[in-house]
Amino acid sequence: MSGPKNLVTADGYLAASQSLAGGVCGAYRVNWATGQPLVVVRGDGPYVVDLQGRRLIDFSMSMGCMVLGHADPAIKAAVIHVMEDGLAAAYENPYAATLAAELCAVIPSLERVRFTLSGTEATTYAVRVARAYTGRAKVVKFEGHYHGYSDALAWSVRPPLDQAGPADSPRVYAESQGMPPGAAADVIVLPWNDAGALAATLAREGERIAAVIMEPVNYNAGTILPRPGYLGAVRELTRRHGVVLIFDEVISGFRMCLGGAQQHYGVHADLITMAKSLGGGTPLAAFGGRADIMAVVSPSGPAAHSGTYAGHMIPMAAGLAFLDRVREPRFYPELLGLCDHFYRGLREIFERRGFKATLQHLGARFSINFGLAEEVWNYREAAFVDLELAKRFYVGCVERGVYFHSSRHHGLSIAHERPVLDRALEVIDHVVGRLA
Ligand code: PLP
Repeated sequence: MSGPKNLVTADGYLAASQSLAGGVCGAYRVNWATGQPLVVVRGDGPYVVDLQGRRLIDFSMSMGCMVLGHADPAIKAAVIHVMEDGLAAAYENPYAATLAAELCAVIPSLERVRFTLSGTEATTYAVRVARAYTGRAKVVKFEGHYHGYSDALAWSVRPPLDQAGPADSPRVYAESQGMPPGAAADVIVLPWNDAGALAATLAREGERIAAVIMEPVNYNAGTILPRPGYLGAVRELTRRHGVVLIFDEVISGFRMCLGGAQQHYGVHADLITMAKSLGGGTPLAAFGGRADIMAVVSPSGPAAHSGTYAGHMIPMAAGLAFLDRVREPRFYPELLGLCDHFYRGLREIFERRGFKATLQHLGARFSINFGLAEEVWNYREAAFVDLELAKRFYVGCVERGVYFHSSRHHGLSIAHERPVLDRALEVIDHVVGRLA
């Protein structure tokens, strides 16, 4: 989520941009370090193969979708199986209610769930549900937190510091032109990890606030962890003021344990959103939570939600196969063991080489905060990351077969076995050696 905006480079995908707007299907596809989107023809375990035939060890993992690795056999088999049945969409299918029940059994606070195709849809609908439930309009979001680019939430994700306003009461910064100017009036942006700022806002105008939405781990600004006690304080404050607490677990879900950040921190939200890893590479997302709140969703209630492809068989079958894999008792110990091995290796390299960078991580996703000497706790601190150093690191790695996207978060999967990680660490050691 960082780097220069609106970067359009000269070669490589110019031809695509003659018909595909900007040459890509999503702005974040452009890796601003290499100046190109990576055009992938196939994925295989921890590897992707690009159009030039290069086989790269992948630390993007589809921006966090591939906790099982690319082309996981169980996902593949499940998808092929439902394809045999003809892919009828826009009817109910036998898979959706089963997946809903299985999710409710493993995710804390999840009593009812609805499926969507993208995390953006999930967060947009979660906010709508909170507004319908409370009859209030305003939403609190946090600086540096990304929830997709809907008009409701595309505010103050990556504001330039000279336009971001005071640190303790940030300006509501529009991440896009074309959003209704009036929409900003219903958004309150606060610094994260600051319970006092939230307490003051809720005391002042809590009765007008429908929801507080956050990434419970702020992966999008540098894998920033909640300070001890912060999530609990937010939970207590929102409950006291009758405000719906939404945890956006699009990245944190299934990242460190089955129950995501709610289980990891022992703090339960009222609504949550999920996407990325859950679909194992298919377009699957969800919003859900307390039954009394989800009762407002149509057709039982007045908050409209539908979608021709919502709950489509392919993502439903993939989601069921994904859950089967991650519920295996060995899964998380094994995944976290691989993560630990890699993170220890990275830290050792940075220290031995005297490389100025810090590593922040939780579960299978991490950030390298280039040029920083200490752990960061909010967007303003993370914004001082050295982008030039980041660029040279990423380019050096990609040239030597290790793929990093220029996103602020990277990750690994259960398919990143130790020999693969050791090979990646060798490359990183070499690159850091040249940069340090
Ligand atoms: N929420 C978070 C925390 C995300 O990181 C993202 C995407 O990266 C989204 C929501 C939007 O999800 P999608 O890209 O599937 O629309």
